[in-house]
Amino acid sequence: MEGVLVARSYDNPQLSQTFDVTIVGAGFAGLYMLHRCNQRGLSAQIFEAGDGVGGTWYWNRYPGARCDIESLEYSYSFDEDLQQEWEWSERYAGQPEILRYVNHVADRFDLRPSIQFNTRVEKAAFDSATARWNIQTSNGAAVSQYLVMATGCLSSTNKPSFEGMDDFEGPIYHTGEWPHDGVDFSDQRVGVIGTGSSAVQSIPIIAKQAKQLTVFQRTPNYSIPAHNGPIDKALEAETKANYQAFRDANRRENGAFASRTPAGETSALDATEDEWREKFEHHWQLGSLAFLRAYPDLLLDDNANAIARQFVADKIAEVVTDPTTAQILTPTQVIGCKRLCLDTNYFETYNRDNVELVDISSAPIERFTPTGIVADGQEFEFDAIVTATGFDAMTGTILKIDIRGVNDVSLKEKWSSGPTTYLGLCIPGFPNLFTVTGPGSPSVLTNMIMSIEQHVEWIDECIDYMSHQGHQSIEATVDAEQEWVAHVNAVADFTLMPTCNSWYLGVNVPGKPRVFMPLIGFPPYVEKCNEVAANGYEGFALTSPADSSTR
Ligand code: FAD
Ligand code: NAP
Repeated sequence: MEGVLVARSYDNPQLSQTFDVTIVGAGFAGLYMLHRCNQRGLSAQIFEAGDGVGGTWYWNRYPGARCDIESLEYSYSFDEDLQQEWEWSERYAGQPEILRYVNHVADRFDLRPSIQFNTRVEKAAFDSATARWNIQTSNGAAVSQYLVMATGCLSSTNKPSFEGMDDFEGPIYHTGEWPHDGVDFSDQRVGVIGTGSSAVQSIPIIAKQAKQLTVFQRTPNYSIPAHNGPIDKALEAETKANYQAFRDANRRENGAFASRTPAGETSALDATEDEWREKFEHHWQLGSLAFLRAYPDLLLDDNANAIARQFVADKIAEVVTDPTTAQILTPTQVIGCKRLCLDTNYFETYNRDNVELVDISSAPIERFTPTGIVADGQEFEFDAIVTATGFDAMTGTILKIDIRGVNDVSLKEKWSSGPTTYLGLCIPGFPNLFTVTGPGSPSVLTNMIMSIEQHVEWIDECIDYMSHQGHQSIEATVDAEQEWVAHVNAVADFTLMPTCNSWYLGVNVPGKPRVFMPLIGFPPYVEKCNEVAANGYEGFALTSPADSSTR
């Protein structure tokens, strides 16, 4: 078969399996990477820590978990039959439905035989003599020419460590590691820490179930009503009639989604109050993250952004009946510099008699006790506590693996001042290692499935090129990396995105270097990746077996 690489075995009894491509993670990224490898006839294997496929959608089973990009968009586009045949029940599918979809994909493309579940990759070391990765897992070892990190941007939970946490006698849950059997909060006093997307989705549902719900809020968040509901059948039919054209239109958008929402063309600063109120109201009613498309300068000019902030503040004041609670819930940071939330009855929930909001912005949680939480000198008693405190995003999961590149340099050491990559795909000193949606790529600022598909296809074509050219290793150059990092920073600094303490900057994790990790803008990024490949992988050093003796 064309493009087949020959798997070689090494005479090392400790290394039991040999692959052309080893993939870490069985979420959307890992599964598609495996499918592409299978299509090329490469020997490929996924190691997955969980006991099922789905990644994000396997782990995040908290009440209310659902996508914030419409399902007609938040789904694979690589197979026309798949996208035609699958029917979403809701505009924004819930976690169980998305998990069913991922399982369907795994079965449809016969991926399970090449996935080893319950297996965590713990260590990977590059052997320069053989140009292979030696991989250590919780269940054995493997040797691989290529190592693809499909480990996810939001897959390592950020668990707070408060004094006395171990003494709390009830259960403490994290939204990102939710029990598979669900949790019944009936008749319970529940505390939720956090008001990010996971909290915004789960709070309204927990509030309906629990006897009493107390929310600890450090920073209020902007949230737009999702107006979720059964999928619009006419829209689905219209989309499916020309699905690829719709996907292509989305790929031309900065965030690779919402091409159907008209983007404003004139500055918010040129609008009269009546005009901007009408325009924002229209976008508010769309129920989409595309709210921020109302005007083109919302993330470029603080004065323009302030108008959108005012609009949302007024909405919160309209919905929340207690003015003090409304004020505490009203964010002041730049709207959009943290990911917007989409909700169903989030602000309305604070009008319930059984819901209390505790502002911990100036007096943080002091400690846990056996029966609850102490904040600002007051003790709150709980039967259960939910930490909706997010993730060690973009780098946390990769850095949990002891990755050693050329000369045994560890990735942790290399990234000690923040992650640096070339194209968010490769790292100098770590040949034949690819990161899917790595730092320095648009990743979390986009419909991630579009970013995942683009990365997987680029990696797949790169591996095929290497095989045809007889190369055995590919490594980003330091010059290309430095230029790329400067570019990522320059683009971010042109916007208001780095102005608040978001997880995009790593600020949510104590001690993490403050670096804006994703790249803004999908279309120019794709163009650059294509150009690099078309120019024979510009910015990379490619090595053939004959060269390796001189390495
Ligand atoms: P993941 O789905 O995170 O999968 C990574 C996998 O790697 C996991 O299964 C993990 O167990 C495994 N793994 C990690 N380390 C190891 C190791 N050392 N050894 C073995 N296995 C390992 N994005 C959007 O674009 N739209 C949305 O609506 C959206 N909603 C989201 C909702 C939630 C609650 C969260 C947390 C994220 C959401 N995202 C959304 C982002 C989401 O993470 C991506 O869309 C996408 O699912 C990521 O897929 P992935 O395969 O790259 O990573
Ligand atoms: P998050 O956005 O990082 O929110 C975490 C929340 O916990 C924040 O309110 C944070 O406050 C708070 N927090 C963290 N540590 C704390 C501490 N020590 N004390 C008190 N409060 C603390 O995490 P997330 O809600 O899980 O979402 C992460 C990302 O996943 C989202 O941005 C989105 O990309 C994705 N996601 C998407 C959806 C969806 O709608 N489809 C749902 C869930 C997640 P501060 O703001 O002050 O740090």
